[in-house]
Amino acid sequence: MTCVLCAPTPHTILWQDDFCRVVLLDDEDYPAYCRVELLAHVKEMTDLLPQDRARMMKVVFAVETALREALNPEKINLASLGNKTPHIHWHVIPRFEHDKHFPNSYWGEAMRESNTSPLDAKMKQTLTDKMSKLIDCALKTS
Ligand SMILES: [Zn+2]
Repeated sequence: MTCVLCAPTPHTILWQDDFCRVVLLDDEDYPAYCRVELLAHVKEMTDLLPQDRARMMKVVFAVETALREALNPEKINLASLGNKTPHIHWHVIPRFEHDKHFPNSYWGEAMRESNTSPLDAKMKQTLTDKMSKLIDCALKTS
């Protein structure tokens, strides 16, 4: 059985190490929607050793911070679902009052047509730079 997260990712990799990676999903309604994906097959946060759990969350919060700094969203939605794949992964979704589902969740009822465009190369670079700096800094202070 092929695993979608073990296969080469079709998404833009913003950051990665040998533990996890941060991808930009290029979602057409949520252009800055990121996912932090653990590379190993582990299903639950509580299956990780405490230090690895902490490492995962440091990356998630660094991604959240980078998105907040770059885009000033109304809210960040964090979600860990993973019912279909045995890799822990965190959805990090910047939300805006004008987005397709606000105030519902990304998976909830749509409220309006979305009116957004893909991130331009400059914004992708800004996010890449911010994430790299914030993650490196977070991982150094263990
Ligand atoms: Zn896999």
